[in-house]
Amino acid sequence: MTELSLSAELIDRLRTSVAARREELVDLTRELIRFPTVNPPGEAYRPCAEFIGRRLARRGFALEYVRAEGTAGDSERWPRLNVIARRASGLPGPCVHFNGHIDVVQTGAGWTVDPFAGTVREGKLFGRGACDMKGGLAAAIVAVEALIDSGARLPGTLEISGTVDEESGGYGGVHYLAERGFFSPPRVDHVIIPEPLNVDRVCIGHRGVWWAEIETHGRIAHGSMPFLGDCAVRHMNAVLDRFESELYPKLAARKTDMPVVPSGARHSTLNINSIHGGLAELQDGALPSPCVPDSCRMVLDRRWLIEEDLEGVKEEVRDLLEQLVKERTGFSYSLRDIFEVRPVMSDRNGPVALAAAAAVRCVIGRDPEFICSPGTYDQKHIDRVGRLRDCIAYGPGILDVAHQPDEYVLIDDLVASAQVMTLAAASLLSRSA
Ligand SMILES: [Zn+2]
Repeated sequence: MTELSLSAELIDRLRTSVAARREELVDLTRELIRFPTVNPPGEAYRPCAEFIGRRLARRGFALEYVRAEGTAGDSERWPRLNVIARRASGLPGPCVHFNGHIDVVQTGAGWTVDPFAGTVREGKLFGRGACDMKGGLAAAIVAVEALIDSGARLPGTLEISGTVDEESGGYGGVHYLAERGFFSPPRVDHVIIPEPLNVDRVCIGHRGVWWAEIETHGRIAHGSMPFLGDCAVRHMNAVLDRFESELYPKLAARKTDMPVVPSGARHSTLNINSIHGGLAELQDGALPSPCVPDSCRMVLDRRWLIEEDLEGVKEEVRDLLEQLVKERTGFSYSLRDIFEVRPVMSDRNGPVALAAAAAVRCVIGRDPEFICSPGTYDQKHIDRVGRLRDCIAYGPGILDVAHQPDEYVLIDDLVASAQVMTLAAASLLSRSA
C-alpha cells in the first residue's frame, strides 16, 4: 500500500491504461473544441452537453440534463443546458465528482490556427478552450473511463458534470445546480474542477471580487464656455488622483497568507475596467457637438484577500469619495455595486487535496505546490451555495495561455493530469473500503 491507499499493482495498471488512451484523449479534446461554445451568447451548449452525455451513457452513467431556465442569457435559441452524469457502484461509499465548464470566451484577434479545429502541432493541441478547459474536462472523462474499465471493485459513486456559463459567473451552471442540491453532501463528497493550473499544482481557493461603478456628476453647458458648466470628467480625474496617491499604495502594502500565484496577486489589487464620460464615442465621419460632460462613469474591479472583509473594502473607496465631497467644490458621486464574490480556501489537508497531492507525487515525481487562483472559478458556488468544502481545482494547461490567441494544451500534460485524476479518484473511493 502507498499513501494513495491503492495497491502498487492497481496504480501501475491505471497509469498504463491512461497512457494507452493518449490518442483517444487527444481526439476527445478536439471533438469538444469543435463545439464553438462561445459565451456570450452561449453558442452550441446543447449539442456539446448531449455529446458528453452520450459518451458517458456508454459506460453506464445515468444522465440528467438541467436547463437553467430564467437565468441570464437563457432562451430557446441559447438554452443554458447542463449535463450531470452519475454512476453508482452499488457498494456504499463516497461520491467523487469532476466538474468542467463547457463554455469558452470569445476568440479575439491574433490567431494563426483555426480556433475551433483542434490543430495538433509539436506536442501541443491548439484551440479556444484547449487549455480553459476542454482539455481538463476530456482528461477527467478519460480518467474516469479508465477507472471503470480497470474492473477494480471500488465502492461509492462517480459523477461528471459539464456545466455552462462559468466564464460569466456560473449562474446558469454550477450556481443553478448547487441551489438544487447537486453539489451538496450527502449526494457529493469530493469535487475536482480540472481548471488549467498546471499538472504539478493543486489549487485550493481564490481571492474575492468586488466590481462597482462610480459615477461623478457635473452640469452640461456649451463647450466654448466650460466655466458655465461643471465637468464630470475633471471630477473623475480627482478620484483617480486619490486612487494613485492614497489607495494604490495601501493596497500594495497588503499581503495575504493565501498561496496565490502569481505572487503579484498576493496583494490586494484594483483594476480600472473602463471609464467613460461625455459624448458617446464618435462614429466615422461625424463631428462632435461641444458640451461639458455632465456624467463620467468608471467600472472598477477590486480583488480582495481572505484577510480583508467586503464591508471594509467598500468603505475604503467610499471614504475617499466622501473626502472629495468635503474638499472639492461641486463634487458629487454615486457608487453602485455590480458583482461580488467572497474568497474561498479549502483545507490543504482535506481528503481531496491530499489524494491529489499524493497522485501528483506518484505521476509527476515531485511534491505539488498548493496554490490559490488570482481570479475566481466555480468553487465559490460549491463552497457558498452547496456548502461542500472538500473541493479543489486541478487540471492540465498553463493558466497564462487561457483566453489568449493560439491557446493550447500540451498533450503530455493532458495524459499526466488524467493519470493523476484516475489515481486520486480511486484513492478517494477506496478510503472507505
Ligand atoms: Zn475555466
